[in-house]
Amino acid sequence: MKEFENPRVLRIAKRVLKQGHICSNCLGRQLAQISTGLTNRKRGQTIRRILCLKEPKTCRICKGLFKNLNRYAREADDKLKPVQFRTFLVGSKLSKELIRREEDLWEQAGIEFCEPLKSELNRELGKLIEKRIRKEFQAQNPDINILLNLEKGRIELRINSLFIYGEYQKLVRGIPQTKWEHYPETVEDIIAKPVMEKTLGSGHSLHGAGREDISARCLGWRPFVFEVKEPRKRRIILKGIEKAVSKTRKVRVRNLRFSSKKEVIRVKSIRPDKTYRLLVKFKKAPKNMKNLEKLVGIINQKTPSRVLHRRADLPRKRRVKEIKFKKTKGLVYEITVRGEAGLYVKELVTGDQGRTKPSISQMLKTPAEVLELDVIRIHIKGD
Ligand SMILES: [Zn+2]
Repeated sequence: MKEFENPRVLRIAKRVLKQGHICSNCLGRQLAQISTGLTNRKRGQTIRRILCLKEPKTCRICKGLFKNLNRYAREADDKLKPVQFRTFLVGSKLSKELIRREEDLWEQAGIEFCEPLKSELNRELGKLIEKRIRKEFQAQNPDINILLNLEKGRIELRINSLFIYGEYQKLVRGIPQTKWEHYPETVEDIIAKPVMEKTLGSGHSLHGAGREDISARCLGWRPFVFEVKEPRKRRIILKGIEKAVSKTRKVRVRNLRFSSKKEVIRVKSIRPDKTYRLLVKFKKAPKNMKNLEKLVGIINQKTPSRVLHRRADLPRKRRVKEIKFKKTKGLVYEITVRGEAGLYVKELVTGDQGRTKPSISQMLKTPAEVLELDVIRIHIKGD
C-alpha cells in the first residue's frame, strides 16, 4: 500500500488522529480518494498499521455508528418482511451533532481527499441490507426507499406508489370518474376495489386522459394510470383485475400493464379527438338538417355558464371535424359529432345563450336540448 506511505497522506492522517479517538472508517474516509477499490475501513486500518496504532474502542466522530450498522440492517429487514418489492434505495438523515462533528474534523484536517460521511453510510448500510434481503439496489424509481433516520435513531420505509396503466369504458350514466360531491360511487372506486384488495395499499388515485361528463357513458376506451399508494403487494395478476371490474357491469378495463409515474404525465397530456353520440330534442321541427354540416370547422366557445362558478371566463376555439344526424322519432334526432379535445359538446347543441357560436340550435333556428350524451370513441392514435 505504497500510496499510504506518501508523506503528504501520512501528514493528513496524523492531523486527523490528533483530534482524539477516531475509528478506521472515519479515518479512512478522510483519505477516500487515495487508492480506489478499498473500503474506508480498510484504508484506515492500513494507515494504522503503518503508524503502529491500535483501533480505539470508541470514535469521537461517528460514536460507533459503523460498528452498529448491522443492527440497522436487521431492523430494515424486519420492517420489510410484510412488504413485497423488487428494488430498493438506501438513504440517511444525519443528526445535527454528527454533521457538526464531521465538519469540525474537516476544519482541522482539511478536505483534500475526503468523502462525506453520508455517502459512506448509505453505501455500507446498502451493502449489508442487500446481503440480507437479496433484492436489487436501484437508484432511479426504486419500489422502496429505506431511510436511516439518525435524528430519531431508527429505520423508516417509504413504499413508493405502484402504477398500473389501462383503458376503461363507463357503461352507465351518473357516475363521475373521480370523487365528486354527493356521488357515492366513482369509476375510480370501481377499479380500486379489486386492485386494493390485491395490493393492500393505503390509498389510490386515478389519473385519466381527460374525463367524460357525469351524465355521459364512455363507450370509447379511455386511457388512465391507476396509482396505488404504499402497496404491500406488487406482484398481482392484472387479468384477474380486468375480470373483477367487468363483473360490475358498470365499468370495464382492458390492456392493463404495470406502468410508471412518467406515464401519468404522458397520459394526462394527450389531447385526442373524441366522437360523441347525442340524443337531441328540438323545440320545433328543424327545416333543413343539412345545415348542420356547416358546423364543420372552428367553433367559438366561452366558458359554459354551467361551469362558470368554478372556472375562469375565457374564450376558446375548437374544431368540429365531422357531424352526422339521424332522425329517431318526433322531434328527437341522434347526432354524431367528432370534435377536437376540449370542445364543449353540450354547448355546441344548445348554443349556451350565445356563448357558443355557431351552434346546432343556431344553425337550425330552434332551441335544442341534450337528452343523452355518450362518448363513443376516443381517437388516441389520431385515427
Ligand atoms: Zn468513526
